[in-house]
Amino acid sequence: MNGRATTGAARPAADATRVLVLNSGSSSVKYQLLDMADESRLASGLVERIGEEGGVADHTAALDRAARELKDRGLGLDSPRLAAIGHRVVHGGTRFTAPTLITDEVVEEIRRLVPLAPLHNPANITGITVARELRPDLPQVAVFDTAFHSTVPEAAARYAIDTETADRYGIRRYGFHGTSHAFVSAATAELLGRAPAEVNVIVLHLGNGASASAVRGGVCVDTSMGLTPLEGLVMGTRSGDVDPGVLLHLEREAGMSTDEVDRLLNKRSGLLGLCGDNDMREIGRRMAEGDAAAQLAFDVYVHRLRRYVGAFTAVLGRVDAVVFTAGVGENSAAVREAALRGLEPLGIEMDSVRNAVRASGPRLVSAPSSRVAVAVVPTDEELAIARDTYALALHPPQEVG
Ligand code: AMP
Repeated sequence: MNGRATTGAARPAADATRVLVLNSGSSSVKYQLLDMADESRLASGLVERIGEEGGVADHTAALDRAARELKDRGLGLDSPRLAAIGHRVVHGGTRFTAPTLITDEVVEEIRRLVPLAPLHNPANITGITVARELRPDLPQVAVFDTAFHSTVPEAAARYAIDTETADRYGIRRYGFHGTSHAFVSAATAELLGRAPAEVNVIVLHLGNGASASAVRGGVCVDTSMGLTPLEGLVMGTRSGDVDPGVLLHLEREAGMSTDEVDRLLNKRSGLLGLCGDNDMREIGRRMAEGDAAAQLAFDVYVHRLRRYVGAFTAVLGRVDAVVFTAGVGENSAAVREAALRGLEPLGIEMDSVRNAVRASGPRLVSAPSSRVAVAVVPTDEELAIARDTYALALHPPQEVG
């Protein structure tokens, strides 16, 4: 069903080159308007605290506000120059493995996946529904956070639990941040001046959420997030990997309910749980003052990262680049340095002077002699979604009929 439209959205006119990207999260709506003629950003905004005090009532109200903000800037959604609307959708299950033109049937499928992403998919569906009501004539495209990981082989995607139970409940590793991993791995190949099909890359997406992926020749072969975005690296407020026995122990011994364990692992763990702060900048400041809890949080975070670098090196066999992206990855020279320190035997040689230079563009931070390039590549999920959306709007797949 990927990319097949059953409604006949017309192809955009020649001067319709704008794409609106909507990211309707669980408690916020982010939007960006891009002109794909030169990939420039015309507007961007954020409506926060949906359903909270001081915020808007619900997602419909948040999208109304976003539409009004654009209108006030002379960039209203009624513009004939708008070619398409792209939506970030968190969970595509095993069904969606590529960007997909949205139809009623596609919305129903996304709805069927709600049990796998109970906080995110409903918000995504509301975004899609409101946008389709506003511009029913426009092609709208769903870009899935899981899609890039759909190529992960069964050996890496399967959990070693009873197969019948796993299959009945859709339990497998789906992975997330896929748009970012795809964009950054491709941009890394470009930075190296090589075709994506020729390079093997370990991508470390370190934001408030964090994930690692192993990309062989442009194809994702392993990733650290799993059934949900809780698995893998230490994150701002999420634990990442824990022994599943910890959950059983907390329920049996501490008498915690499922919701309490959920809140503990998703909201009160990670850097925040270890030291009370989830912002790496604040942790850096505290470490400089000799704060032991902040130092421990940093050390646990970095230790987990090193484990995944080692694991994915073994998965790939040959690694051409390790690349850091997102808030922490792009900005924290200390995390990059500590994560890769002493890995010369793996062919990784950082250049600490280059690494310490603050810059905004894609860049190499390894020594010229390093067998494995180490790079910093800013992620741009909105641009990636806009590109996918525009491509599908210009060249809708043929109807099978
Ligand atoms: P993201 O989710 O990609 O927006 O990343 C947000 C996180 O990036 C914040 O919570 C900080 O921990 C981290 N971050 C942002 N700027 C910096 C910086 N200059 N140095 C270290 N960490 C940073």
